Amino acid sequence: MSQEPTSNFIRTMIDEGLAGGHRQKLITRFPPEPNGYLHIGHAKSICLNFGLAESYGGRCHLRFDDTNPAKEEQEYVEAIKTDVRWLGFDWGEHLYFASDYFDQLYRWAVKLIQAGKAYVDSQSADEMRANRGSLTAPGVDSPHRERSVEENLDLFERMKKGEFPDGKHILRAKIDMKSPNMNLRDPAMYRILHAEHHRTADRWCIYPMYDFAHGQEDSIEGVTHSICTLEFEDHRPLYDWFVEQLEIHAPQQIEFARLNLSYTVMSKRKLLQLVTEQHVEGWDDPRMPTISGMRRRGYPAAAIRNFCEKIGVGKSYSWIDLSVLEESVREVLNQTAQRRMAVLEPLKVTITNYPTGQVEELQAPNHPQQPELGTRTLPFSRELYIERNDFMEDPPKKFFRLGPGREVRLRNAYIIRCDDVIRDDSGQVTELHCSADLDTLGKNPADGRKVKGIIHWVSADHATSVPVRLYDRLFNQENPDKAEDYLQVLNPDSLQMTEALAEPNLLNVQSGETLQFERVGYFCVDSKDSTAGAPVFNRTVTLRDTWAKMK
Ligand code: ATP
Ligand code: MG
Repeated sequence: MSQEPTSNFIRTMIDEGLAGGHRQKLITRFPPEPNGYLHIGHAKSICLNFGLAESYGGRCHLRFDDTNPAKEEQEYVEAIKTDVRWLGFDWGEHLYFASDYFDQLYRWAVKLIQAGKAYVDSQSADEMRANRGSLTAPGVDSPHRERSVEENLDLFERMKKGEFPDGKHILRAKIDMKSPNMNLRDPAMYRILHAEHHRTADRWCIYPMYDFAHGQEDSIEGVTHSICTLEFEDHRPLYDWFVEQLEIHAPQQIEFARLNLSYTVMSKRKLLQLVTEQHVEGWDDPRMPTISGMRRRGYPAAAIRNFCEKIGVGKSYSWIDLSVLEESVREVLNQTAQRRMAVLEPLKVTITNYPTGQVEELQAPNHPQQPELGTRTLPFSRELYIERNDFMEDPPKKFFRLGPGREVRLRNAYIIRCDDVIRDDSGQVTELHCSADLDTLGKNPADGRKVKGIIHWVSADHATSVPVRLYDRLFNQENPDKAEDYLQVLNPDSLQMTEALAEPNLLNVQSGETLQFERVGYFCVDSKDSTAGAPVFNRTVTLRDTWAKMK
């Protein structure tokens, strides 16, 4: 957050507003509906709204848009607060709930009825749909449109008292059934819903529609800039109409294009389905595009903020490749993650000229560029494990790792040469016999031999086996929403469970800590499944973009 934010069209609009003499305190808000966990698309909106407030010396409210009792839960409220805070933002005392405004919204509805600007309609849902018209055909007035103010007031009061079943009546704004903008064709304001609300319990059996609530919520809070996604552009005239009729403060609505990310679904309905049908292990499964999933996977909050800054804010729809997010994660972790060594697919190596039973304690830096992060001790002995794919029997010219007769440096230790290849009966390589140049610890060989390759290793006697979960993309199709059924394009290999042989230091880690396994990838200590002395590692991201190569 220290870096200077890049400008975008919203900043320009605000700047022009300020320059035009309307110098005002900037108030924005982030208004999630508590019907699911936050995802990376929400992060874009959070960074934008809190970021603007921060740089213009204003403030940003966190407001739960809980007008729909059916799908909302307290669990989501808590999870959303945790995620916004973790991302690095603070709403201070400005925590609000749309449900706190139910009384005010009700009074405003009555006021519109009294002014002849709203009426109770009693058509069936089907009739209402048919009479709404289409983009090419105008709508038809409801037979109840000319009810008297008295009758409307009476019916609305009785709706509130619970005298009618769900769907029997509805309160509508009286605007224009022939408007080319469908949103202005007498939109619904209140509906009957005999449902328990997570905050108001059974106090209400009528609930305001999103379109009647949202703009007024902003108005009540004195929001100056109401920033939302492009789908709401056509709703803006309706929001303006309401605040104008009610003669209340009018926030300036500005729309921007939502984030679309490849290999990802972002609809909360779909994310919920993934959870309830157990295609993943929960909202915070490390494969989920949720903030909590990314946190558990090991994505740093700074990486998500940098990503949101990098992709910018615009007016036209675009797709961002998942690799852009992954690159942001690598950029941060490369700076912050301590280095360790672990082998995923072990191949045994015996150093034939190293005494049996001897153990050396080698010193290794925790970070190659940051000496202040200190060093750690690495045990070295006669029997080691290296990564199986760091050896090739018949290596091509550019392969700088191990092959028969070839030399390589063991990271933080000696240069070794492969003298013998040991096989089992089936011809499979089971072990390498190597000799070490014992003069080469921590320095280049005296005779100036050039050794290009450096490989990682662990001491066989000292290595500890740790569970490792290799995560990959959750979907194997670029746009899962385009598939006939997005569940059909779930990547069957998105989770691979395995074990790594690791240096003993890997047992002393903090829950949630992310490390680089040198040459392998970044790994995070799972915050749920790890216990003291028994960490479970989640692969946060590989060191390079392996998908780019495949394409
Ligand atoms: P739904 O309407 O499916 O419940 P939603 O994604 O609109 O979901 P909200 O909780 O209403 O969910 O979203 C809160 C805020 O986050 C809104 O202001 C919305 O504009 C913003 N937002 C949601 N998805 C994205 C996205 N993909 N990119 C940018 N902003 C988003
Ligand atoms: Mg929404």
